[in-house]
Amino acid sequence: MSRALAAATHWVFDMDGTLTIAVHDFAAIRRALDIPADDDILHHLAALPPDEAAPKRAWLLEHERELAYAARPAEGARALLHALRARGCRLGVLTRNARELAQVTLEAVGMGDCFAPDDVLGRDEAPPKPDPGGLLKLADRWQVPANTLVMVGDYRFDLECARAAGARGVLVNLPDNPWPALADAHAVDCAALLAELERCWSAG
Ligand SMILES: [Mg+2]
Repeated sequence: MSRALAAATHWVFDMDGTLTIAVHDFAAIRRALDIPADDDILHHLAALPPDEAAPKRAWLLEHERELAYAARPAEGARALLHALRARGCRLGVLTRNARELAQVTLEAVGMGDCFAPDDVLGRDEAPPKPDPGGLLKLADRWQVPANTLVMVGDYRFDLECARAAGARGVLVNLPDNPWPALADAHAVDCAALLAELERCWSAG
């Protein structure tokens, strides 16, 4: 891990599968909504005529609401957030989930107090990742250059979003890194990421 990454003061987290244990079954969602296997769910819904999209959006929201109440924290995520907060870091969430459900989820896993409500961006506040719009919006809110942000996530979209914004991307919650060209750092989980950060912090 680079010194600059460890010294970063503005951190943005993906939610599902990063702060929480991944529970979305995207294949089942596609089947239920009659979305082709290779299509991006949010892009597919956005391209449908409004009267066809509305009931599918409503179904997705209800399905995700059930998942939100049952959410469990990912290994080490809460400790990582608290350690960053203790250092005075500003924390945000950028998720393709709905903001309302992100709040429910974060409360359910005991992380609701880690983020200012306006620093949680969902699919209605920002274009879905890998579009960098959400990161640029947070950088603007926080009055810092986008290239000082760190984006932590468990999927290629998170890393591509970071890259497109000029920010740093950190991959977590995968045993290996399938996207070495996209990730500035990789840790098997947030506990390992925190351990590595603490090594850098104590080395000054
Ligand atoms: Mg994720």
